[in-house]
Amino acid sequence: MKKIGILTSGGDAPGMNAAIRAITKSAMHYGIQAIGIRDGFEGLMKGRFVNMKYTDVDNIIQRGGTILGSARCPEFKNAEARKSAVANVKEAGIDGLVVIGGDGSFRGANVLAKEVDIPVIGLPGTIDNDLYGTDSTIGYDTALNTIVEAVDKIRDTATSHKRVFLVEVMGRDSGFLALNSAIASGAESVLIPETITDIEAIAAQIKSQNKGRRSSIIIVAEGDEEGGAMEIMAKLRPHLENFKLRTTILGHIQRGGVPSYFDRALATRSGIMAVELLMAGKTEKMVGVKADELITVDLKDAIEKKAIPKVEREELLAKLLTK
Ligand code: ATP
Repeated sequence: MKKIGILTSGGDAPGMNAAIRAITKSAMHYGIQAIGIRDGFEGLMKGRFVNMKYTDVDNIIQRGGTILGSARCPEFKNAEARKSAVANVKEAGIDGLVVIGGDGSFRGANVLAKEVDIPVIGLPGTIDNDLYGTDSTIGYDTALNTIVEAVDKIRDTATSHKRVFLVEVMGRDSGFLALNSAIASGAESVLIPETITDIEAIAAQIKSQNKGRRSSIIIVAEGDEEGGAMEIMAKLRPHLENFKLRTTILGHIQRGGVPSYFDRALATRSGIMAVELLMAGKTEKMVGVKADELITVDLKDAIEKKAIPKVEREELLAKLLTK
C-alpha cells in the first residue's frame, strides 16, 4: 500500500481532526503517503486532493470541525456521477480509503468500495451516536458535554424565574443525545423517538413534580414523534396553563467545540486501526468500540441495523423523579 485517501463527510463532529491526524501520522509511520480529500465526496468527484505532511496535522488534535472540510453531496448517490470519483482515485494512485462520517457517508463508502475496487474503511464521525455496532461514535461524548453544560446554564435562569424549559437537542431520529444528556443534567423529563410520547402524562408529571420546585427541564430529541420543542410546547400549553413555558433549541453549538479526552482518544486509536486494516487488505468495515476495546463491524450492518439507546435508562430517570 502506497497511498491512503482520507475524507470527512456529512455533519462535522468534534474529534474528526484527531482522526485525520492519527491516520496521517500512522500512515507515515508505515511509509505510506496520506492524501487529504477536501469537502467529502464532492472533493473526491472534483479531484481536490492534497498530499498530507506532518505539519498539516500539527496542533489539530484539540480543534473541533474538520480541517479537510465536509459537505453534503447528493450527486454522489448517482452511479454516473460517481464515475469521476473512481477515475480520480485511480489517477491519484490511491490504494486505500478512510471515510469519516455518519450512516449516509457509509452508504457512499460502501457503493464506492465496489466500484473503485480498493479497500475502504469507515470511522464513525457523528455526534448522533446512531450507528449500529459501536458504543460510541467520534464526537458523541463532546456533544453530550456541550448539552449538559448548556442545560446547567438554562437551569439557573429556569430556577430564578420558576419556569418549565423544553430544551431541544440533536440526534435526528435517534434518542442517544437526549436520553443521556437528560440523565447527566438532572432533567425532569425526556422525550425520545424510540418511546411513545404521551403529552398528557408529561403535563401531569410536571404538575405533580412542581409542587415546591422552582424549575423543570424537559429534554426533547429533535426527532420525537410529537415534534420538536416548539411543537411540544404548543401541545403542552393547554394542559399547563398556570406554568411559564419556554423553549431553547441548542442547534449547531452541539456540533462544534474542543473535543473531549474521550473523543480525542477514540479518534486516535480508531485512526491508527483504520490504517492497519487497510494494510491488511480489509474492506467495507467500520472501526467501533465495545467496552473500551476497538472492534470491526461490517459497514453494511452499521448502516442497515438500528442502534437503539438503552431505554432502561429512561426507567432509571423515572426513579429519580420527585413525586
Ligand atoms: P450525519 O449523521 O452527521 O448527518 P451522514 O454521513 O449521515 O452524517 P448524510 O448527509 O446523510 O450525512 O450523508 C453524507 C453524504 O454521503 C451525502 O451528502 C452523499 O454524498 C453520501 N451518501 C449518502 N447516502 C448515499 C447513498 N445511498 N449512496 C451514495 N452516497 C450517499
